[in-house]
Amino acid sequence: MNARHIMATVSASVLVLGLAACGSDSEGGDGGGGGEDGGAVKVGIKFDQPGLGLKDGDTYTGFDVDVANYVADELGYDSVEFIQAPSPQRETLLQSGQVDMVVATYSITDERAEKVSFAGPYFVAGQDLLVASDAKITGVKDLEGKKLCSVKGSTSADNVKKEVPGVQLQTFDTYSKCLDLVANGQLDALTTDNTILAGYAAQPAYKGKLKVVGNTFSEERYGIGIEKGDTAMCEDINKALTKMVDDGDWQKAVDDNFGPADFTVDEEVNPPEHDECA
Ligand code: GLU
Repeated sequence: MNARHIMATVSASVLVLGLAACGSDSEGGDGGGGGEDGGAVKVGIKFDQPGLGLKDGDTYTGFDVDVANYVADELGYDSVEFIQAPSPQRETLLQSGQVDMVVATYSITDERAEKVSFAGPYFVAGQDLLVASDAKITGVKDLEGKKLCSVKGSTSADNVKKEVPGVQLQTFDTYSKCLDLVANGQLDALTTDNTILAGYAAQPAYKGKLKVVGNTFSEERYGIGIEKGDTAMCEDINKALTKMVDDGDWQKAVDDNFGPADFTVDEEVNPPEHDECA
């Protein structure tokens, strides 16, 4: 871990705690988009997921941020305006034109693809559990009757309800709101993608208190959400994603952002081939 990682980790912890205490609202833009000949592009990211999408003052860090910046540059935009895109609001932000792209741990699903189009995938994660360090939970099979936390409008909430119909699930609009509830024992587990959970478990405030179980039960293929039917943009983004892998910047983004959390990327499924643009 280098000095920059340590700084990022420390400030991430402060921000996550702040969000957990105060809650957060989305900051929608005014609509209207930049073209592909310069101008600004509005990108929806998470603001409270260390290692993926994190806002700290005017600084944005994380794997999704690096992917968004790379793609925006390849598409010829001069600048990127980051807008908060909590899980339940991602389709609406795209449909209303408040953002041009969503790069926010956004799994490609058939249901979402009815409302938006996806470029990518650019990463494949898996759903897992974050529990207290001394918890006996070793996988989804141990969840019957347990109290769980997740987020509205996420595949995480949908998947776990299907896997364990008897689970007691509390849902918020962001995952960071679950953290203290699990750390202080009010809830048994937070469930979402292993990438997100690793970022939280590595925060100084939760080290030694929370652990990722390490037993995934879904495949989450992260796509870049765009306006439904914009095939030209989808193809341009896919070209940029292929270039990002080929020139080593994808791997650098993995190392920079997942390294500090000691998160091991599943190389059997990463980096993924992109889908055809629908
Ligand atoms: N990747 C999952 C999803 O898109 C869970 C993470 C999230 O909510 O951003 O629903």
